Amino acid sequence: SKLRVGLLFGGRSGEHEVSISSARAIALALSAQQNASKYEILPFYIQKDGCWLAGEIPQKVLESGIPYLESSDSASEAQNQLISNSKTQALLKRWQSPPQVTEVDVWFPVLHGPNGEDGTIQGVLTLMQVPFVGSGVLGSAMGMDKIAMKMAFAQAGLPQVKYMALTRAQVWSNPCVFPKLCDEIEATLGYPCFVKPANLGSSVGIAKVRSRQELENALDNAAGYDRRLIVEAGVVAREVECAVLGNDQTQASVVGEISFNSDFYDYETKYTQGKADLLIPAQLTDAVSLQIQDMALQAFAAVDAAGLARVDFFYVEATGEVLINEINTLPGFTATSMYPQLWAYSGISFCELVDRLIQLAMERHPAAE
Ligand code: ADP
Ligand code: MG
Ligand code: MG
Repeated sequence: SKLRVGLLFGGRSGEHEVSISSARAIALALSAQQNASKYEILPFYIQKDGCWLAGEIPQKVLESGIPYLESSDSASEAQNQLISNSKTQALLKRWQSPPQVTEVDVWFPVLHGPNGEDGTIQGVLTLMQVPFVGSGVLGSAMGMDKIAMKMAFAQAGLPQVKYMALTRAQVWSNPCVFPKLCDEIEATLGYPCFVKPANLGSSVGIAKVRSRQELENALDNAAGYDRRLIVEAGVVAREVECAVLGNDQTQASVVGEISFNSDFYDYETKYTQGKADLLIPAQLTDAVSLQIQDMALQAFAAVDAAGLARVDFFYVEATGEVLINEINTLPGFTATSMYPQLWAYSGISFCELVDRLIQLAMERHPAAE
């Protein structure tokens, strides 16, 4: 019989729309000829307010690609399609009741950013004791938090930019302390530097700063997004990415490059059609490509990622240095996204990729051991 795949998409993060696009592409691949006999899709849509929906509405969102939002009250009255609200208690209580949830054989979370890529949903899926695609709690959380991630990379001996980890409390505390903090950042990292909330994605909350005034504003702004912040020395570099697939035995794809004209790879550049180009394969020497692939596999293991991840690098052409920037454990997965494109070029089609990810999820589940 067919394996029932719980396709979980939408979500409360700023990457809701990207998630819908990724889920549509995955649904299409699961219903393609070579997969249709193996898999049946059960779509689950998480509204922007955190409400979970099963059944017809998620199906419609998948078909139309348009977000859906209904107030919790009317949603629960309507056809009992509300599975949970964002409150944990209600969520856990209602969890097992809708037949659709208990029918799932394997979950495919296609959620980006906080609450999707950071280990929270992975914790819920772990509690459900059902296999799921991608990294577990630890790998997801490590891959989301830029400070924890960088500590793991440093421990693995992977070269990266100089950085300082800060907390919101330091930034928002005593006005006498704040100037000293800025002095220290200037002395340690200089300008330009990048101020980032530690737990976000899609460049949200990130600023490139070139002066004291910009630094102060950026710190204050980033502190509004997260308790944990990171400031990094800015590098002038090409941005290259490598896809990783596997659990304990991993493989790295060819290396791809992002090219764009803006100041840095910010939100607008990422999501405005035509503002950025993917170059696959990146024009690099074999030695540099191999080095990047090797570093990608090491980074994957360093944070305990599983299934899939896209590892992003800075290639400083002037010095020949490769610095690791970050790992993304649930990278964009639309038909034109870097992760599936890298695999397509490496000989694994989108349909095959989705199939492999589900097999990797099954293989990793304790029941398979
Ligand atoms: P996100 O997880 O939101 O993608 P990143 O850390 O990858 O955040 O930063 C987003 C973009 O900002 C990068 O792709 C790059 O263009 C730019 N950037 C970030 N950090 C640096 C840095 N230290 N030096 C130069 N550019 C950077
Ligand atoms: Mg990221
Ligand atoms: Mg990035």
